[in-house]
Amino acid sequence: MPNVFENALTQLDKAAKIINLEKEVTDYLRIPDRVIQVKVPVKMDNGEMKFFEGYRVQFNNWAGPYKGGIRYFPSVDLDEVKALAFWMTIKCSVAGIPMGGGKGGITVNPKDLSKTELEKMTRSFVRSIGKNFGAQVDVPAPDVYTTPEIMSWVVDEFAKVNGKEELAVVTGKPLDRGGSKGRDRATAMGAFFILQKLLEKISRTPQETSIAIQGFGNAGSVMAALCAELGLKVVAVSDSKGGIYNETGLDISAVEKHKESTGSVLDFAGAKNLSNEEILLLAVDVLVPAALENQIREDNAGQVKAKYILELANGPVTPAADEILFKNGIKSIPDVLANSGGVTVSYFEWQQNLDNKYWEEDEVFAKLRAIIVPAFERIWQMAEDKKIDLRTAAFCTALERLRNLWYNGINQKI
Ligand code: NAD
Repeated sequence: MPNVFENALTQLDKAAKIINLEKEVTDYLRIPDRVIQVKVPVKMDNGEMKFFEGYRVQFNNWAGPYKGGIRYFPSVDLDEVKALAFWMTIKCSVAGIPMGGGKGGITVNPKDLSKTELEKMTRSFVRSIGKNFGAQVDVPAPDVYTTPEIMSWVVDEFAKVNGKEELAVVTGKPLDRGGSKGRDRATAMGAFFILQKLLEKISRTPQETSIAIQGFGNAGSVMAALCAELGLKVVAVSDSKGGIYNETGLDISAVEKHKESTGSVLDFAGAKNLSNEEILLLAVDVLVPAALENQIREDNAGQVKAKYILELANGPVTPAADEILFKNGIKSIPDVLANSGGVTVSYFEWQQNLDNKYWEEDEVFAKLRAIIVPAFERIWQMAEDKKIDLRTAAFCTALERLRNLWYNGINQKI
């Protein structure tokens, strides 16, 4: 597997060259501000002590407090967290919100833990690391296999560690603990606004557009439901166990019920099972990777038949694959833009907590649309003008903003 942090740096260098980014800015952005690695001790239900590894990477805070999710997954390691924290820096800059980039994680399969163990592990992590969090310092959120309930434990344990409660210290909280309306659907909603704009640009109706979605979690399942509601043909979806395919379109609410009752989308009546690798190679109009990084690589990019890729997952396409897709005329709408709805509404949640206000869902989504659609238009236009891929265009716009922050004062503080 390609090293994800190296992938991220390759993307940085490619865009830096195009905008002639000064060496001092590029070099600054190659290294995280701070890397925190902790031991997370947990007394398991059977009385045994287990020690997990936890990370928080505070990559860059020129635009505002470090911001980024906490992931619980077996493959979490320092390089992955660094890459994700770097991408958060770029993503917040693409969206133009006053947040920097951070990310955290624990190397664990939370499916192997009981609910009590999961709570103990989360609280133990916050005890080890929580002094580094804060509404104006570093604001975590959910990511893969972490949930609003887990975020409510983070707020709670943060208050114990720091002797004060601060709702704005974490986003993606449950609604009754200061969460924002719309946060649960924000990532998919942002991508959906972009998809609608894309269809307009290419003069396609939803009904004549087919879509395949890899990953059926928070991001992927909501995306599938939104697309089905609009009338797109969602022909394939998948989860960690594999995928299902029906070329005439799947009934997404029935798939959701099937997953709830069986634990997987597999063996859904009227659909053919397929692997997570096969779903990436289907002849669809739009492919949505919504699971993990490094899915489309040098070895399979040449077989991708989709016309567009909408990256709901972080880092699903490697730099080598990017080159192949671009050469083959496949447009990939990059993660730092396509899934920025999540962090944008997280920023709204933070703002509501600080102002002690609650916004209605319509207001949240109207504000999200007003940020993400112009960002998409800007990046699309830049890609056309400079004849570059959309990821490089997105990085260029983000780096230009970071460069302005640096030369308008940040550099004088160092
Ligand atoms: P989730 O935990 O809710 O869902 C993850 C999904 O991926 C599950 O359906 C799981 O079964 C599936 N999966 C796990 N391993 C897989 C594999 N090997 N192949 C295919 N599918 C697999 O997580 P999520 O929040 O939906 O996040 C998914 C992606 O979206 C991640 O890359 C995450 O960083 C990104 N993302 C999420 C948000 C958000 O707000 N949730 C925001 C921005 C980006």
